[in-house]
Amino acid sequence: LKSLLKDPELLATQAYIAGEWVDSDTGATYEVTNPARGDIIATVADPSRAQVTEAIAKAEAAQKEWASWTGKERAAVLRRWFDLMMEHQDDLGTILTAEQGKPLAEAKGEIAYGASFIEFFAEEAKRVYGETIPGHQRDKRIMVMKQPIGVAASITPWNFPNAMITRKAGPALAAGCAFVARPSELTPLSALALGVLADRAGIPKGVLSILPTTDAAGTGQEFCENHAVRKLTFTGSTNVGRILLRQAADQVMKCSMELGGNAPFIVFDDADLDEAVAGAIMCKFRNNGQTCVCANRIYVQDGVYDAFAAKLKAAVEQMKVGDGLEAGTDLGPLISDKAIAKVQEHIADAKAKGATVILGDTDATQEAGYFLPPTIVTGATKDMQFATDETFGPLAPLFRFKDEDEVIELANDTIFGLASYFYAKDLSRVYKVAEALEYGIVGVNTGIISTEMAPFGGVKQSGLGREGSHHGMEDYMEMKYVCMSV
Ligand code: ADP
Repeated sequence: LKSLLKDPELLATQAYIAGEWVDSDTGATYEVTNPARGDIIATVADPSRAQVTEAIAKAEAAQKEWASWTGKERAAVLRRWFDLMMEHQDDLGTILTAEQGKPLAEAKGEIAYGASFIEFFAEEAKRVYGETIPGHQRDKRIMVMKQPIGVAASITPWNFPNAMITRKAGPALAAGCAFVARPSELTPLSALALGVLADRAGIPKGVLSILPTTDAAGTGQEFCENHAVRKLTFTGSTNVGRILLRQAADQVMKCSMELGGNAPFIVFDDADLDEAVAGAIMCKFRNNGQTCVCANRIYVQDGVYDAFAAKLKAAVEQMKVGDGLEAGTDLGPLISDKAIAKVQEHIADAKAKGATVILGDTDATQEAGYFLPPTIVTGATKDMQFATDETFGPLAPLFRFKDEDEVIELANDTIFGLASYFYAKDLSRVYKVAEALEYGIVGVNTGIISTEMAPFGGVKQSGLGREGSHHGMEDYMEMKYVCMSV
């Protein structure tokens, strides 16, 4: 992997604790593999729980000084970090593809997307406004200050190894928090590369630590039990989110949670079908279906169902499955054999309950790597597993529906509420459906909704809090009410 990089120093394999690159104090290491080939690409330090505690203590010590910097001073350092990320976009993309599998063009896209959160929040650092409120008595003045929460700790998944960290670190650091990150043990290299660039950008020692530990549960416990940590921010499954929320309750810790989704993608009979197909492809197959905002259930109205299925099939047939580092690849491998098994289980369950496979469902052809062909099934019904459970893979089930009220009820019939999408032209239908969908995000005539400019987040069991936009800063700040008698 090193030989593919213009700047080999970006391939860091030690833990980044308070500005120092260190091995595990127990000497423990683990191997990172490439999901397209199954070969080992790096051996990474596995820091101990004591080192997690140390990173938190150093973050606590560094945070007050960092918070005393002006917003403009913090902005300048964050802006340098953004510039360095963009300067090294190719290398960061290569590292990302090698450990995660997504095609290189998509990986570079993630680097630009991830960097955009650092750019945006660098700008926001200068715009943390308080408030004055008219007094309740003649001699009273009411002032509201915004202050950083303190030390924020993050736990992030493997599907966006760069952007899931920056969308948290950006607002946290901009607000004046210190930040301790624990990336997924499947994709630590992208996180550590961010550490190399943060260091070069001049982020002060202690303000940022990156702990590539394999002990997710122990680190989660430490984050929740250590009194110096004031904020936990997590992206991952709803199940792990529940565990962390329970643990965080002991300290009444502030939590942001970006959890699972079960996104409906609705095609009404007045939709532009070609646009709907293009949107469905981006929405369903980006990152090979491994995003929490990927379409999981595709509902198509009766009158256009067959036409949509045929067009979708024709488009998906053209997609090339392969190693993400090879040119022309549209779909990389899945992350693991467990991920493959889940998609296959959903396909088998649907077939047993009467669905028809119109594309895919052929066995993996590659000798190494976690590859699976994209699959489309028609005749999907609500008793099938994918109706309630996120597939997280390249399986597109098409459900048939008759009218608006029916599809709104079907779409909302889930414990999740992250992203939803629909294609329609009729203006009153657009308003009605956008209002009726019980989701934190609604894409209308588009399959791509992620941007640093907008508040991303879910309702129901999809999470708490928002990431991106000026709202994203609020999650890392406390409000202090100062009552002054004059
Ligand atoms: P995914 O299905 O996306 O892997 P998970 O919720 O299992 O979702 O994982 C998200 C992140 O949470 C990963 O970094 C994983 O290592 C971590 N994780 C898993 N179990 C726990 C736990 N008990 N406490 C804290 N973090 C955990």
